Amino acid sequence: MDCLGWAAKDRSGVLSPYKFKRRPVGSDDISIKITHCGVCHADVVWTRNLLGNSNYPVVPGHEIAGIVKEVGSNVQRFKVGDPVGVGTYINSCRDCEYCNDGWEVHCEKGTLFTFNAIDADGTVTKGGYSSSIVVHERYCFKIPSDYPLASAAPLLCAGVTVYTPMVLHNMNQPGKSLGVIGLGGLGHMAVKFGKAFGLNVTVLSTSISKKEEALNLLGADKFVVSSDHRQMRSLSRSLDFIIDTASGNHPFDPYLSLLRPAGVYALVGFPSEIRFSPGSLNLGMRTFTGSVTGGTKIIQEMIDFCAAQKIYPQIEVIPIQYATEALERLVKRDVKYRFVIDIENSL
Ligand SMILES: [Zn+2]
Ligand SMILES: [Zn+2]
Repeated sequence: MDCLGWAAKDRSGVLSPYKFKRRPVGSDDISIKITHCGVCHADVVWTRNLLGNSNYPVVPGHEIAGIVKEVGSNVQRFKVGDPVGVGTYINSCRDCEYCNDGWEVHCEKGTLFTFNAIDADGTVTKGGYSSSIVVHERYCFKIPSDYPLASAAPLLCAGVTVYTPMVLHNMNQPGKSLGVIGLGGLGHMAVKFGKAFGLNVTVLSTSISKKEEALNLLGADKFVVSSDHRQMRSLSRSLDFIIDTASGNHPFDPYLSLLRPAGVYALVGFPSEIRFSPGSLNLGMRTFTGSVTGGTKIIQEMIDFCAAQKIYPQIEVIPIQYATEALERLVKRDVKYRFVIDIENSL
């Protein structure tokens, strides 16, 4: 038992200490001493068995940052002492067209998720609420030495989840207009990327309470309360792209009407159902699309972009002992804007 983690033992989702063994370091693997792990909505989903497929005990966490402590004999890109990150998946076939293109997250044979997935040897993968992890080097990312590890953690899921659809749909061209639905871990990063790309950024929120911070702290250009019909009408057909980070259910037609003709609506949250009028797409020849995290190529590009542009997530650093409460607060959307667990100093 070489690894100490915190795990949920049943669907109550309450986390407590749990010892287990990490696999030996293979020739292509690196072993990482975890220093920080971000707290993502996915951690709530699987610690509480919300999809009915949790494999208890669940050690959550897929926004992992740390330091390389051991490398296998074939490892090329890393050496002991390097700062590194691991995101939402830790293996794929490395042989299909998607893997060969750096889109491993869409691997034909299926991607191995960082926690709660069944590994090739039959064991359940265990995430970053733990002292260490062993990962094939392909699924690890270099973190520039001047970028704080606590800030790097949320980039590995929240950051890349919004960065990927923005770049794929050419929303890194200055002057375009972006709408961001939801201002949590994902949404606040979309605002930061939008401003770094030179976009005109409008935050669309159900509550006025985040207005001040959206405009002054995150740098959004406009803040619109989505229940205010007059404000919404004034935005009609004005946005090139909307990124929807809301995890709860909401109507889609009012937001789709804000897109210009040929505008794109990208869904990165997981509502239980999507319903909208066909006219909301047809009449403006709009596109409705979805996205999850990103391939290894774009994850490294995004980390390097954040370091070069000095983009940092807004984080609240917490000890591991606070993890259960943090998940509870995340459900209530009571976090500005991402919890990061200080594994190094509290586990
Ligand atoms: Zn996540
Ligand atoms: Zn593949």
